[in-house]
Amino acid sequence: MKALLGTVVDPYGVKKNVAVIVDSGYIRDIVPPDRLGEYDVDETYGGEGYLILPGLINAHTHVAMARFRGLGEDLPTDRWLEEVIWPAELQWTPREIHRWALIGMAEALANGSTTINDHYFFADEIARASLELGIRAFIGQTVMDEVDFPLAKPGDGFRFFKRWDGRSSLVKPTMAPHATNTVSLELMREIGEFARERDALIHVHLSQSRREVETVKRRYGLTPVGYLRRAGVLDRKLVGVHGIYLDGEEVELYSRSGATLVHCSLSMAKLEGRIAPVIELAERGTNVALGNDSPNPSGLMDMFEEMRFSAVLNRVWRRRTDVASAKEVFRWATFGGARALGLKAGLVRPGQLADLVLLNARKPQFLPGRNPYSHTVYSARGSDVEVVMVNGEAVYRNGLFTKIGKTIDELWESSLQ
Ligand SMILES: [Zn+2]
Repeated sequence: MKALLGTVVDPYGVKKNVAVIVDSGYIRDIVPPDRLGEYDVDETYGGEGYLILPGLINAHTHVAMARFRGLGEDLPTDRWLEEVIWPAELQWTPREIHRWALIGMAEALANGSTTINDHYFFADEIARASLELGIRAFIGQTVMDEVDFPLAKPGDGFRFFKRWDGRSSLVKPTMAPHATNTVSLELMREIGEFARERDALIHVHLSQSRREVETVKRRYGLTPVGYLRRAGVLDRKLVGVHGIYLDGEEVELYSRSGATLVHCSLSMAKLEGRIAPVIELAERGTNVALGNDSPNPSGLMDMFEEMRFSAVLNRVWRRRTDVASAKEVFRWATFGGARALGLKAGLVRPGQLADLVLLNARKPQFLPGRNPYSHTVYSARGSDVEVVMVNGEAVYRNGLFTKIGKTIDELWESSLQ
């Protein structure tokens, strides 16, 4: 057994100075530290001044795009995607995807993400990299049929899912239609039927640009949410991403469906100068999760940064300060992501998966330590993360990725070769 010592910050409560006992991949107990002797603990981490958080969940990302960091800055979404990203992506080889997925995931892990929900090409390579590092990963092979893109052939998406379904406790395949304007209604229906048979998640970009909305309207006379409903995929297994152009009717429809909306505020603010109506969605009961949409355009695989931006941008966007509290945003980044993905995680409670983050808060920016939610969202940085546990295993510890036996420094050096 292992134990983490510190103050638990869970989206629904704080427990000061406790020991979290971990056994066989799950949280077994949470007890005062003086009861530690009752358990057969062979490793302890943390102590006074540490914070224990549920692992952060990056519910939408493309980890291998770490390779494109800094490319195509300051272009709007359509031009960024079609003029810069797609041509660069045509150069991918499986080997390069594996290399950059490893770099992107290592960055995510070191900054406190225990789970990623990835949507990309050569998905087998991404799955392989996540097993090597020990990060929990939901992975979908991106498919499109309205755009002729050799890396996104529809058949590959179904085949990838079948290859990985039930194969690993860490890697779960998803279905990943690219977006409502790049996938035909027929293909989306087919994906929906397949997903229902296999109880699969559908992870899709939704209402991400004006052009997407216009294209779907011209093609089918529908809004993007109307299109998803027509295709029969608008339900609790849908993980829709972005939604920045959703209209009032779509917000209502989406909220009633049980689907999750993944909010990538930093990415969308940078690419489109706007963010999704997540406050309206959340007020109507939509499950909200957070994602970073990859290191391009976000710049970082750091969900602390993502929480902070989400809180602040929602206030600017709504011109209100009574929305997106630190506690709510923290819930989106943890429990909201877990709910989207059907994971028994996102909470620090006995019986939950031991996907945990130990934050070293023995630093000036955490003084005087009076509000753990505020400190987690507004004061913490990914670099404060000391230990990341996935499935009860410390897969990252003080700069070392324990499963591959490489430090951050060594990984940086090897990426230059
Ligand atoms: Zn994306």
